[in-house]
Amino acid sequence: MRRMRGFGETIFAEMTQLANDTGAINLGQGFPDTDGPESLLSGAARHIMAGVNQYPPGPGRRELRAAVAADRSRRYGLDYDPDTEVYVTVGATAGIAASVQALVEAGDEVVLFEPMYDSYPAVIALAGGVRRPVPLRPSAADGGRFRFDPDELRAAFGPRTRLIIVNTPHNPTGTVFTRDELALIAELCVEHDVIALTDEVYEHLVFDGAEHHVLAGLPGMRERTLAVSSVGKTFSVTAWKTGWVIGPPPLVRAVQTVNQFLTFTANGALQLAIADAIRDEQAWVLAQRDALQGKRDRLSAGLRAAGFDVLRPQGTYFVMADIRPLGYTDGIELARALPRSAGVAAVPAQVLYDHQDEGRHLVRFAFCKRDDVLDDAVARLSAGG
Ligand code: PMP
Ligand code: GLN
Repeated sequence: MRRMRGFGETIFAEMTQLANDTGAINLGQGFPDTDGPESLLSGAARHIMAGVNQYPPGPGRRELRAAVAADRSRRYGLDYDPDTEVYVTVGATAGIAASVQALVEAGDEVVLFEPMYDSYPAVIALAGGVRRPVPLRPSAADGGRFRFDPDELRAAFGPRTRLIIVNTPHNPTGTVFTRDELALIAELCVEHDVIALTDEVYEHLVFDGAEHHVLAGLPGMRERTLAVSSVGKTFSVTAWKTGWVIGPPPLVRAVQTVNQFLTFTANGALQLAIADAIRDEQAWVLAQRDALQGKRDRLSAGLRAAGFDVLRPQGTYFVMADIRPLGYTDGIELARALPRSAGVAAVPAQVLYDHQDEGRHLVRFAFCKRDDVLDDAVARLSAGG
């Protein structure tokens, strides 16, 4: 297919396959190796056994839409109508895909930050859109935090810009965008009449007291922002593929128009269990966040001891490591070799860039694993490499 030329198998699937084939510890694809809260799992089973097994309404179960709206209001002070402003999708992935198909016409430009989550370029290509990537680079002055150059961001906006995609907390760098960074994005969106799609799937996984800010809360942005989030990362159930899109009615209606022909609707019983967990399991989410912060520190210290230069993430499941201190220069080569040479799989960041030189020397490791698994991975990397 011409529009998808250049898009092969996703890097996450490739590295998981390689890990499985070689028996390596999989620190590539981001998924936890422990389950979500017991009440969530048993709730889903209970709803299934109670007969919640037929199509839910197209926009999703009202219980979940109401729980999502209440959570958004409580956390961020933004009120949304569950009936017209919240729409349930098959994971954040389908929410992002439907949003881009709904909003981007052929030739429209989409500003986004690189490295970028791999579904963005693919769905922009499907819509016939044009990417305008703005690099995030590690800043020595900012403890290695990845950030953008405001002038490069300004220069990426132009008369053809239709959409900006903002992923915060950011996969794979772990950057949590500051209020000031979001304020500049908001200012440019308003000035150029651009819509924002925010990918907030790691919204609850922020460390060291960092705060997740929502772009929709900034002046002029509520009416031009579609926020996407999902259950997978918040509750350690990445296979449940249940997400939601939140925004003003005209934008949500546009998403619905597309999505009703992509997936029509999402699952049923899981939505009811998720609604309960969003309401009742907030202590679990906080404990999970704190545990992940410890895992970040554990893996980071181990990677440093193994010789990598580690770039400290403020959130997400991931840590970026610079491979040059170990004498390597090509992250793709290293990531393809590492499962066999050291028994550990990781993701080369380079494939998540348009300007691939920016990320040639960076490899992403996932720390959302049991402590003993992280320790084993570090021991292997220190011994083999
Ligand atoms: N966006 C980002 C930044 C991600 O890392 C992921 C993977 N969890 C997704 C979207 C997809 O989320 P979901 O599994 O809910 O489709
Ligand atoms: N979001 C996860 C990651 O970045 C995996 C997603 C996927 O496999 N498509 O690793």
